[in-house]
Amino acid sequence: TSINEFIAGLEQRTPGENEFHQAVEEVIGSVWDFYMQNPRYQKANILGRMVEPERIIMFRVPWVDDRGEVQVNRGYRVEFNSALGPYKGGLRFHASVTLSILKFLGFEQTFKNSLTTLPMGGGKGGSDFSPKGKSDGEIMRFCQSFMTELYRHIGPNVDVPAGDIGVGGREIGYLFGQYKRLKNEFTGVLTGKGLAWGGSLIRPEATGFGAVYFVQHMLKQLKMDIDGLTVGVSGFGNVAWGAITKLNELGGKVVTISGPDGYVYDANGIKGEKVDYLLELRASNNDIVEPYAREFGAEFVAGKRPWEVPVNVAMPCATENEVGLDDAKNLAKNGAYLLAEVSNMGCTTEAAEYLSENIVYAPGKAVNAGGVAVSGLEMSQNSMRISWPREEVDARLKVIMENIHETCVNYGKRSGNVNKTDYIKGANVGGFVKVADAMLAQ
Ligand code: GLU
Repeated sequence: TSINEFIAGLEQRTPGENEFHQAVEEVIGSVWDFYMQNPRYQKANILGRMVEPERIIMFRVPWVDDRGEVQVNRGYRVEFNSALGPYKGGLRFHASVTLSILKFLGFEQTFKNSLTTLPMGGGKGGSDFSPKGKSDGEIMRFCQSFMTELYRHIGPNVDVPAGDIGVGGREIGYLFGQYKRLKNEFTGVLTGKGLAWGGSLIRPEATGFGAVYFVQHMLKQLKMDIDGLTVGVSGFGNVAWGAITKLNELGGKVVTISGPDGYVYDANGIKGEKVDYLLELRASNNDIVEPYAREFGAEFVAGKRPWEVPVNVAMPCATENEVGLDDAKNLAKNGAYLLAEVSNMGCTTEAAEYLSENIVYAPGKAVNAGGVAVSGLEMSQNSMRISWPREEVDARLKVIMENIHETCVNYGKRSGNVNKTDYIKGANVGGFVKVADAMLAQ
C-alpha cells in the first residue's frame, strides 16, 4: 500500500469524517517512512488497527430545561487506544461536536498521551450540548443525565475523562457528584476536580503553563527569550487564561484574545485584573469576548480572527482549524518567529505546512500536552491518596514539557532547512513509536 491507498481506504470506511481524516493524514504522513522500514509493524497491521477506535459508546442524553421542557442531546465516548494505560482524555460540550470531531481528538490524544511519558491510553468524549446561554441549573441537569449513562463505561482503571471545550471545573463537579451517587465510590475517575475533593494544584493552569514552557524551549533553539516579546493569543477560556498568566510572569506582552464573535486587540497588554476577568467571561456562559473591550476600553474587531495583528509569537488557544493558510502567511509576513499550536489541530494542514517550512511551527499534541500530563499527575496523587504541593506539580510539568520538546528534536531532525527541527514529524513519530511497540508486545 501507499499513503494514498491507505487514506482512500480509510475514507471509504468512514465517509464524511473530515476532521478525523485530516488528523490521520497528518500522522500517517509523518510516520510512513518509519513504518515502511519496520516490517514488524506492517506484518501486525499496526496502522490499520490504530485508526480504528477500540470502542465507541453513543447514547441519548435527555434533560429538562428551565421552562420544564424535555431536551435531548447525543453523548459520546470514544475509547480509542489502551495500549499505554486506561483511556484518558477530555469531554467536549459544544454545538459542533460530532463523531468525526471526537475521533480526531481521541486519535490525537493517543499520541499526545504517549508523548507525556505517563501511562495513559487515548480517549475523548462529549456531546453536541451547547452550554451557551444555558443556566447553571440546566448545565447541572445535563451533566447529571450525561453521567447517568456514562458511569457504567468508565472508572479509575478503565477510562478517566476530564475537561475540554465547554467542560471546566464546574462541569467536572456535577459529573463527579453524579458518578459518586451512582457508584457509591470516591475515586479518581475524573480529572480536573476541585482542590478540596481530589483535584491537583496547577491542573487548571496546566495546559497554558505547559504550552508556555514548551515555547520557552522553542525560543531557546532560536537563541531568544519570551521576555519583551509580543504574543497573539486566540480564545479566552481556561487554556488562554493559563497561557496568558504565565506569559505575563515571564515578561511577554499579550495583545489579543478572541471568541466566536471576533477578537480583542489590547495594545496595553492583557495583564493584572484583566486576566482574571477572562474567568468571569467564561463563567457567564455567553461565549463572547466583546464585553472585555467595553470593560477595559480595548479595540474589538467583529467577526475576524486575531492573526492579522503583528506579533512575535502566535499561540492559538481556541479550536481546530482556527488558523488557515492566509492567516499563516499574514503571521509570517508580519515577522512572527513561531506559532505554537495550543488548540488541538488549531492549524489547517496547509497552514501547518507553510508555517513549518517558513517560520517555526509546533503541533498541539506536543504543545498542549501539559494539560493531560497534569491530569496524569492527578491520577497518581489520587491513587496514592496524597496531594503534592504546587512546586512539585509545577516542577514535574516543566520536566515533562522539556522531555516532549527533546523528543520532538530527536525524532524531528531535518537537513536543508533553516529550522533544525521538524516538530510535526518529531511529535508524530515520537508519540507513535511507544504506542506501536506496546501494541506489538500485547
Ligand atoms: N482536553 C485536554 C486535551 O485535549 C485534557 C485532557 C485530560 O486532561 O484528560 O488534552
